[in-house]
Amino acid sequence: MHPVPEQTFARVMRLRLAMKRSPSEWLLHNYLFFKVPLARPDAFLRRTSPYVDALFHPGFWAGVALLGLLGLYLVSRQWEAFLATFADMLSVEGIVSFGLSLALVKTLHELGHGYTAVRMGSRVTTMGVAFVVMTPILYTDTTDAWRLPKRRQRVMIDAAGMVVELLVAVLATLAWVFLPDGGMRHAAFALATTGWVLSLAVNLNPLMRFDGYYLFSDLLGIPNLQERSFAMGRWWLRELLFGYGEPQPEPAQGQRKALLVGFAYATWIYRFFLFLGIALLVYHYFFKLLGIFLFMVEVGWFIAMPVWREVKVWFKRRHDSGSRGVITALVVLGLIGALFVPFPYIVRIPAVLTATQQAPAFAPRPARIEAVRVQQGQEVKAGQVLIELSAPEIEQQLKGARERHQLIQDRLGRRSADGRDLSESLVLARELHLEADRINGLERERSRLAVRAPMDGIVAELTSELSPGRWIDEKTRLAVVAKPGALEARGYVDAEDLRRIEEGDKGRFVDDLHLQDSRDIDVVRVSAAAADQLDNWVLASTFGGAVPARMQGGKAQAEHAAFEVSAAIDGVSEVLPLTEIRGEMQIRGRPQSFGLRMLRRVTHVLVREAGA
Ligand SMILES: [Zn+2]
Repeated sequence: MHPVPEQTFARVMRLRLAMKRSPSEWLLHNYLFFKVPLARPDAFLRRTSPYVDALFHPGFWAGVALLGLLGLYLVSRQWEAFLATFADMLSVEGIVSFGLSLALVKTLHELGHGYTAVRMGSRVTTMGVAFVVMTPILYTDTTDAWRLPKRRQRVMIDAAGMVVELLVAVLATLAWVFLPDGGMRHAAFALATTGWVLSLAVNLNPLMRFDGYYLFSDLLGIPNLQERSFAMGRWWLRELLFGYGEPQPEPAQGQRKALLVGFAYATWIYRFFLFLGIALLVYHYFFKLLGIFLFMVEVGWFIAMPVWREVKVWFKRRHDSGSRGVITALVVLGLIGALFVPFPYIVRIPAVLTATQQAPAFAPRPARIEAVRVQQGQEVKAGQVLIELSAPEIEQQLKGARERHQLIQDRLGRRSADGRDLSESLVLARELHLEADRINGLERERSRLAVRAPMDGIVAELTSELSPGRWIDEKTRLAVVAKPGALEARGYVDAEDLRRIEEGDKGRFVDDLHLQDSRDIDVVRVSAAAADQLDNWVLASTFGGAVPARMQGGKAQAEHAAFEVSAAIDGVSEVLPLTEIRGEMQIRGRPQSFGLRMLRRVTHVLVREAGA
């Protein structure tokens, strides 16, 4: 039975209709739900019913089962090709054929409900399309089936849609085996796989008002399951909270009562997350302002309004409640109070521990490693050669320049001997000078060709894989020289936590891998301006750090405002085993209540999203 959305929203809609409709309300209503009846198929179904007679014989379904097994067997023999079709589906043609086959199978699904209903002797008033949050869903109105005397008849009408889809899947599987490659084969694949899996996933769920719900309701023999269970759920909650002492909405006891109440809560919890999910989806799908608006509409309409209506009832009936009501009120007030009691709060800041003074060493140009002259931990002076390099093309150019120099010199010598044309001699003299310059330059470049210590200190890091003969470029950090002495922690705090720390605060640094004991730290500097890029790139999320970042022009750029914080570590004089140790600063920030923190975070996100 498929009067899905109509019944789901019927109660809400009736409320709306009772009021006058402004154009904006009309728009709101139609954005959330509208229904287009397309046909009154009863006469047609009755006339054509004899043609589908075969579908109602057990023998037919035995044959379908055999065909299904055959199809599975044949597909298993071409398993690789079958999987390859899946890759083909991710094309325009694939998506179009997927869409068309989905439309076809959904139509057959509805006809399945229709023919079964007619055959059972019930009427099918309309068929059409309903739009729920702009998503089209076909429906068949078979509400007349409630008149049918047997539960089995209604169950068959409910299940007919899904059964038809399974039949289509079996035939499509066989068709895939025999069809040539192309659009038809893609369509067959879609019908054989994704189509019915998606359909079952949606339809078998009894918590939404699709086929699965009606099946569940008819199998249990509880018509109007949802309305009745919601009434029980509400009654149960009111008695629990306020003890009105009202009679049960219906005299169910034991398991049946538990089932009705349980079904209501399962549905509410499920729909809460479903509608929240849809709202988030809608929000991301549309541009920001409209997205926020539609998000609010979704959340307001489907989540906040039903809750609000119930709360209003509680308020109106506040005088009816017994002693339970007092306890409930006290508990609620206590919880709200606890939300706004300031608790000590530890601000956690992703940070690295490094030497206060350290500098990286690079090659001056792309070159080949000749020899590594130092070891990790070795003491070095500024300018000392760490790695010897060579560049064969410099040697090549130098050799060429020297030969040309010699040649010009020889010609000049001969020229002065026979004393001819002076101006040509001047040209040669200038060329000689140029070559000499070039040789000088190349020799200078060759002598510069080494990785040198940028300052006095200790080799704190030496890149591994620095074997002779390897080529390196000028961008790779080959070594880091650090001055033994003070250590510091550097990290980034977000805008929300920024207000909670200040210079002079105390805390500790804990490294991620717990390689070392935690160290006491003092905050010495909190930047007032957000950092453009993350200099401590190991903290960027793109490198596995905790600060959300993206790469831009080879630099790590913070996703949200990140403010640099540095903290001193007193009384240590040592060289770290690594140039930087990743971890976090844990700083005792100003106490704050959980409620206020949440409130701030929500407004912060709203402002950020609305502004961007
Ligand atoms: Zn259906």
